[in-house]
Amino acid sequence: MKIAFIIGARPNFVKAAPVISLFRKCHEFESFVVHTGQHFDQNMSSIFFDQLEMNKPEFNLNIGKGSHAVQTANIMIKIERILNIIQPQWIFVFGDVNSTLAAAIVAKKLNIKVSHIESGLRSFDMTMPEELNRILTDRISDLLFVTEKSGCENLRAEGVSDNKIFFVGNTMIDTLKNMLPRIEKSSILKDLKVYQNKYILVTLHRPHNVDNVNQLRLLIEKISELSFNNRIVWPIHPRISFSKLDLDSSKWTPLSPVGYIEFIKLMKNAAYIFTDSGGIQEESSFLGVPCFTLRNNTERPITCELGTNTIVSDNIMKNISLEFIKTRLDNIQYKTNIPLWDGQASIRIMNCFKEFTAA
Ligand code: UDP
Repeated sequence: MKIAFIIGARPNFVKAAPVISLFRKCHEFESFVVHTGQHFDQNMSSIFFDQLEMNKPEFNLNIGKGSHAVQTANIMIKIERILNIIQPQWIFVFGDVNSTLAAAIVAKKLNIKVSHIESGLRSFDMTMPEELNRILTDRISDLLFVTEKSGCENLRAEGVSDNKIFFVGNTMIDTLKNMLPRIEKSSILKDLKVYQNKYILVTLHRPHNVDNVNQLRLLIEKISELSFNNRIVWPIHPRISFSKLDLDSSKWTPLSPVGYIEFIKLMKNAAYIFTDSGGIQEESSFLGVPCFTLRNNTERPITCELGTNTIVSDNIMKNISLEFIKTRLDNIQYKTNIPLWDGQASIRIMNCFKEFTAA
């Protein structure tokens, strides 16, 4: 059976690596990887292929930057030609980026079946482009692999039939577990002259937080206030224009985005994290590192129920105090196991896929 794995953005690489590696080893499948080029810089793309030991993709669409419409449309146009060349029976798409939705629509119209990994997550915030990508992709997927129980509940509530839904766990955690021995060896703390539990880690890239300079400045000011005397390490997403920022160098260590190994090493040893990322809420929960998510909602509620994640909405952030942070840090439960985040999700996906397609 021919399968095409469609990936395009940083979080996709982390979710897809263990699944692709497993399918490539299995002789029943002929696997092809298509990189859409949604993320293309060395530090947003190639470094992940090197560090996660992924082969070079068979096809690269090189679509690059653009508005949501331009990106999605360009991927659709280019991927149709590639899928006609490969002629796979199935494609696998991951997460909630534009490449996920664009590939799913094109494949369905070519009568190719679609398998969606990280299905069912819902923020219930339709102003988020990712929420639209999730809902629309799930609506046309033939097989839906889910990371946490809320995903199954959401899909059922939307009328997806039970026989297409598989609760398998989280492939991002498979990658994290696989990579831990190499992560331990990273020298990034030494290189940046920061010490375990003596710095906080920041990432921001959601349009709501970074596209409006005033909102971004407010967050920077608040995070500075909430850092106690810790240094603040911030790998800055390319969506943010560096020149607009006015960071106090006695407190902040701004960086270009770092590789996966370096980033997880920084996460694992941070006192706490401020982020608006989806994946980082999960990885920090798995590692037991307190995470403050600067958003009005999360599509990953398990990270707040069982993990170390706290949602900090715009309203809370406006009036937040050091006391709020301190109370959360004192009360967060560490090292709670999240069901099926055990490093075996990719194996479950392969087994379910084999059973499903044999039936
Ligand atoms: N990440 C990384 N380097 C960085 C920032 C993040 O390797 O400088 C990793 C992070 O560990 C996670 C993924 O990138 O695996 C999350 O990507 P992002 O936050 O861009 O996307 P989201 O999860 O919000 O979709």
